[in-house]
Amino acid sequence: MDMTAPSPVFELTDVIRVYRETEVETIALRGVSLDVVPGEFIAVTGRSGSGKSTLLGLMAAADRPTAGRIGFRGVDLGRLDEPARGRIRGRQIGIVFQAQNLFSILSLVENVELAARLAGRSISRDDALDILASVGLALRADHRSDALSGGEQQRAALACILAARPDVLLGDEITGELDSHTADEVLGVVTKMRSETGMTVILVTHDADVARRADRVVRLDDGRVVSPRLAASALA
Ligand code: ADP
Ligand code: MG
Repeated sequence: MDMTAPSPVFELTDVIRVYRETEVETIALRGVSLDVVPGEFIAVTGRSGSGKSTLLGLMAAADRPTAGRIGFRGVDLGRLDEPARGRIRGRQIGIVFQAQNLFSILSLVENVELAARLAGRSISRDDALDILASVGLALRADHRSDALSGGEQQRAALACILAARPDVLLGDEITGELDSHTADEVLGVVTKMRSETGMTVILVTHDADVARRADRVVRLDDGRVVSPRLAASALA
């Protein structure tokens, strides 16, 4: 058996992201280095404005760094053009954002079916309904997404990602707007899919329960990683 460590799915090296507006410059990330092994569950924590969403957007191939390298399976995401990044996004890497985009003219179950199709998978309507049930939205399957609350939209977005079955799930505060019972259910769905598929999970969170269930907590402070190797067991 090969006992060497698996090669990382993500290898971030000295990643810097500066936002330049007309006059002001904001340094959101000041040199982040981070390796993620396949199947790992990482919680990203830190105060508001510390760079968490910026980091996630870069790892999702939705944005490019100002400097540094974002290796994803040996490919530098920052060097890919938008069409190439688009092919990775959605299929290999799925992201659930704070402000979620669903197709508002479609019903929830249609959104879930479409998400799978866009990722090159085809699922039955029953499978789509099962996925919606797993995030507590069975009774909303035929509703249009613009008729849902913020928390429901976020769960619907998670259902779409689960239908797409990416190898990597990135989530930005996906349990933030949920009551603790629903948050626990949603987290349960994610961890179940992870154990079934070996999916890598990276969740930005303020929720101590999420952080406790992660393999590792990566804490950001003012654009820097301050605790890269704090094991989940050290928090318990
Ligand atoms: P967090 O998710 O931890 O709250 P963000 O990554 O959203 O942090 O933001 C980090 C810093 O970058 C903040 O100072 C924020 O105001 C700034 N920032 C984020 N997005 C933009 C943007 N699109 N344009 C300009 N500044 C931004
Ligand atoms: Mg954020």
